[in-house]
Amino acid sequence: MTVDRMTALLISGTDHCEVVDLPVPVPGENEVRLAITHCTLCRTDAKMLHVGQRDLVLPRVPGHEIVARHERTGSRFAVWPGAACGHCRSCLNGAENLCAKMRILGFHRDGGLAEFLCAKLENLLPVPEELSGTVASLAEPLGAGMNALDQLDLSEGNRLLVAGAGPVGLLLALAARQSGWRVTLSEVSQARIEQTRPFCETLQVPVLAPEALPDEFDAAINATSAPAALEQITSHLTNGGQFCLFSGLPTGTDGGALLNETHYRQLRLTGAYGCTRAQMRRALDLLTECPQEAGLLIGRCIGLEDAPEALRRIWNGMALKHTVCFE
Ligand SMILES: [Zn+2]
Ligand SMILES: [Zn+2]
Repeated sequence: MTVDRMTALLISGTDHCEVVDLPVPVPGENEVRLAITHCTLCRTDAKMLHVGQRDLVLPRVPGHEIVARHERTGSRFAVWPGAACGHCRSCLNGAENLCAKMRILGFHRDGGLAEFLCAKLENLLPVPEELSGTVASLAEPLGAGMNALDQLDLSEGNRLLVAGAGPVGLLLALAARQSGWRVTLSEVSQARIEQTRPFCETLQVPVLAPEALPDEFDAAINATSAPAALEQITSHLTNGGQFCLFSGLPTGTDGGALLNETHYRQLRLTGAYGCTRAQMRRALDLLTECPQEAGLLIGRCIGLEDAPEALRRIWNGMALKHTVCFE
């Protein structure tokens, strides 16, 4: 029996999304059709719905944290959401995530909040048998965290501050701990600190209110788009320390103070956006090594019909990861 219609979540404009019936996508050249098993929601999906996003083209099926089965063989894959040209300067320099012609599933092309998806074979990263689909769907955001860490020049025992103890901050902590760095999370919300305690205790990573932070970190990453976090971060960096801008800031944010700090204290400023296939593969390896810890980040498994409400909750603050499960 061939299926020709599918259920999908469609964003059609600011604050407009609904579950709709769409034609099943037809594979293009070099592509295969996949049946989605899990798609985890990201704060970027919520941002797309509520305020838009630089790379978003509407109307769009969002979702870029995807695990799916090959329609014919049944093999499971995490899907690298990018499509890079392979021959621009960024691609040749090993930064395919910055390709000038980048097109991303869930941004430029329809993504994983649907029953089916077409993707190129080279985007499919095999998921080990023993790894659950929910945990494997964290490979993309964890890969993005690995990209941020790759931008920093640190060695074992160095102290890293991650500002923001939401899911992104926790994934960064997971990846940094594996590198042997001493990670501290800072978080302004006491409720969030309480919520993340089981994860932080398991990882033995301290999560502190900003006023309780020790001085002198070697490096810092913002895992929150709150502009106030920048000031807080720089005030705790050692002279010559490194700072990676990971979460994008609201348009119009004034960065003058940060740049002057960079000048007077010889800080090193870098940025990170998305991840390469290789980084996502490393993320899958790490998830396979510590599925229990990573599983603590999944707050809920939900149906597609619950996704609009979940995106609202994510945008309004405190949610852990929500995974839409199709199986
Ligand atoms: Zn994401
Ligand atoms: Zn390219």
